[in-house]
Amino acid sequence: MRETIAAYEAQDNVNHPKHYNSSPAICECGRRIECIDITRHMNFNIGNAVKYLWRYLNKGGLEDLKKARWYIEDHIKHWGNTVS
Ligand SMILES: [Zn+2]
Repeated sequence: MRETIAAYEAQDNVNHPKHYNSSPAICECGRRIECIDITRHMNFNIGNAVKYLWRYLNKGGLEDLKKARWYIEDHIKHWGNTVS
């Protein structure tokens, strides 16, 4: 029984991690909006920045804010004001 619960939690942590599934935002169809619903449409740097901002209160705290800043600064450094 214990292994079954651990396996379920591990699977849930792969498919719908709580730290990416914690927004109160709900689609009009009733499904909770997850971080991936938004970030899959973004480029790598900006998507990662949004990911770390999305989860920082539920996972990495200040470290996640610093990671978000890193990706934003890297994007500015490499892409500047371009749309990409
Ligand atoms: Zn929907």
